[in-house]
Amino acid sequence: MEELIFMRPCCREVIWGGRRLREIYGYKTDGDHTGEAWVVSANENGLSVVDRGEYEGKTLKELWDGHRELFGNLPGEEFPLLVKIIDAKEDLSIQVHPDDDYARTHENGARGKNECWYILDCPENGDIIIGHHAQNKEELRDMVEKQQWDRLLNVLPIHRGDCFYIPSGTVHAIRRGTLLLEIQQNSDLTYRLYDYGRLQNGKPRRLHLKESLDVICCPSHLERTREEEVCRGDYTSCILVRSPFFTVERWNGRGKQEILQPHPFMILDILEGEGTINGQAAKKGDHLIATAGCRLLRLNGSFELAASWI
Ligand code: ZN
Repeated sequence: MEELIFMRPCCREVIWGGRRLREIYGYKTDGDHTGEAWVVSANENGLSVVDRGEYEGKTLKELWDGHRELFGNLPGEEFPLLVKIIDAKEDLSIQVHPDDDYARTHENGARGKNECWYILDCPENGDIIIGHHAQNKEELRDMVEKQQWDRLLNVLPIHRGDCFYIPSGTVHAIRRGTLLLEIQQNSDLTYRLYDYGRLQNGKPRRLHLKESLDVICCPSHLERTREEEVCRGDYTSCILVRSPFFTVERWNGRGKQEILQPHPFMILDILEGEGTINGQAAKKGDHLIATAGCRLLRLNGSFELAASWI
């Protein structure tokens, strides 16, 4: 069984996208507006593909459907996680995702979405929208009707290395200039609450006001999920998110380091640096899956990486 599976991203052109996915990571893109790289994805809307080795050219979905042993024979119709890098040149629309229950009932059995953001790059005074200031649904509805967005939305300053957990029901938006790693449940279900009144092809994009008001949690609370940094030799590790849906841990350091891999699978996103992992060359911008057969990761080099698992 192959221990490490390197993925090739599926890049998507969007009008609000920038050039950093190509310039920083060297991803193959079609144009100058690549907003999203779906780096570990078995989602039909953007499948990532195995880059090398025994399964080269196969999609992650094909691996999940045909080689479940790689993922510890986990049950489930779909690969549970989805990882993207997002490069926003403009402000993105303000949105919210439903939870599994709401999605199942109102969206033909679809899945809800909990997600997290790890900031990779942002302008000096960069910010982000997470949560709101309405105390209850009535206040929320009222502020939305009156379009009091500045009063309603919670704007937070951001810096490189910040991480935010965004449970379903949380209003959120990425703002211009932000480059981030997004780790989430494998779902594409998004309700748009507000789009700054912008036009696309001469028309405003569709909003989902009723659904948004249904699923937005009131009052909203910002969860701190980051835990203490732990020193392990020349590396430090830190749990960024611990949720019922996934856990994300960051490793940072140089030299040799061993990391246990006790999970059915683990996703590794190399955020900085280069070296080898279990003897295979790996560098910034690589995304790989440590399969069920890989119980130990042996790093050698200089790395900042995010490890995630369910
Ligand atoms: Zn989202």
